[in-house]
Amino acid sequence: MSSTSARENWQELDKSSHFHPFTDLTEYAAKGGRVVNQAEHVYIHDADGNRILDGMSGLWCCNLGYTQPAIVEAVYEQLQTLPYYNSFFNCSNDKAIELSAALLKVMPAHFRKIFFTNSGSEANDTNIRLVHRYFDLLEKPEKKIIISRKNAYHGSTIAAASLGGMKGMHEQFTRLPYVHHIQQPHWFDEGADMPADEFGRAAARQLEQAIDELGEDKVAAFIAEPVQGAGGVIVPPETYWPAIKEICEQRDLLLISDEVICGFGRTGSWFGCETYGFKPDLMTFAKAVTNGFQPLGGVAIGDKVASVLTSGGGEFAHGFTYSGHPAACAAGLATLDILQQQNMVQHVSESIGPYFRRRWSELAEHPIVGQVRSQGMFAALELVQDKGSRERLAPDSAGAITCRDAAVASGLMVRAVGDSMISAPPFVCSADEIDLLVGRLHQALDKTAAAYGIKSP
Ligand SMILES: *Cc1c(COP(=O)(O)O)cnc(C)c1O
Repeated sequence: MSSTSARENWQELDKSSHFHPFTDLTEYAAKGGRVVNQAEHVYIHDADGNRILDGMSGLWCCNLGYTQPAIVEAVYEQLQTLPYYNSFFNCSNDKAIELSAALLKVMPAHFRKIFFTNSGSEANDTNIRLVHRYFDLLEKPEKKIIISRKNAYHGSTIAAASLGGMKGMHEQFTRLPYVHHIQQPHWFDEGADMPADEFGRAAARQLEQAIDELGEDKVAAFIAEPVQGAGGVIVPPETYWPAIKEICEQRDLLLISDEVICGFGRTGSWFGCETYGFKPDLMTFAKAVTNGFQPLGGVAIGDKVASVLTSGGGEFAHGFTYSGHPAACAAGLATLDILQQQNMVQHVSESIGPYFRRRWSELAEHPIVGQVRSQGMFAALELVQDKGSRERLAPDSAGAITCRDAAVASGLMVRAVGDSMISAPPFVCSADEIDLLVGRLHQALDKTAAAYGIKSP
């Protein structure tokens, strides 16, 4: 088969046989999509021969880019030595053991144990199991409610999507009854007539109010991403996390930090809770733990919960066939090794992160950019018609879709979330590649402005 007919065949087979996640299949059947069939360094290649700079690190997971032979070799070797064994019923495997210990070494010191899953969603399901079990063992069985935030993303199983605060997802299934949502700390969208610091404190106070309304004897935990990723890289006001931390210290509830995006350097520290100075009882990880090369997620369990669940509570009746899969754990070990050997977290906090953020912040000058925000190695900008009134370009976030399509057409993968554009590039981008990213996005902004009849310089 020539490559052209192979490509046409993929498009047709994809439409006829593949049910895509988060895709409008009617639209997809009409328009088709992009078949990615190769990648190297920070570039993806599609079957039409386009080479696209990946400003999203895959789905926030390929933080070290696509060319990492040490991870590939580790997986290959592991598959030859021990391709599979489970961790149920008092069994273990060497790679799961080594990765648990290696993860605890890079995590804040109060973490004691690692529970492995295959994904972030399953890890957040596991969090609910851990939290409920914890309070049951403490003979507080009434404590079942988990407080979360609107527009949070915690995954897509029934439990994880219930924890999440995505309206479009909630409309399509019946949610768990014991999850309660409070406001997100999204100043530009929701608090613009208040100074950011004041808004941050007010958004945090909603946690306290929710605990009072629902009853402290019924509330079990608060879950949050340090920076909401999929919600639009929502960097909270500086006052937000200190206020949340104080509330969690004063009240009887567990704090869960969902670090599926923020973990492993994205915010400029190993974990987002360190950037924002709080101490979670449970921490969700996935995505970048294997650089996206193998599916792996899990929960880091702090001393408070670990001590209750590991002293006479009996069996924890939960687990996955592939919990602690040896090949996935081998990928995790190799990834951690690279992060450490190459001082990647420091590289994000001191070198490429500041450069990326400085270049990104220049986009604030553009006539259709109402706000830029960034942290570590991810960033967002808000599209507006008018900087003063913050009026949006068009209804239904059409402006951001125009901008995203223009960016992708010019060879840059970024995402549109509501009326914002977001980017989370791989840490291994060079300064030149950051320049390319910002330059292509700038052009896409110009095209978007032109499409709405706004003059750009
Ligand atoms: C992606 C994501 C998840 C879900 O992870 P999956 O591996 O897709 O199940 C959970 N939480 C956050 C913050 C995420 O970004």
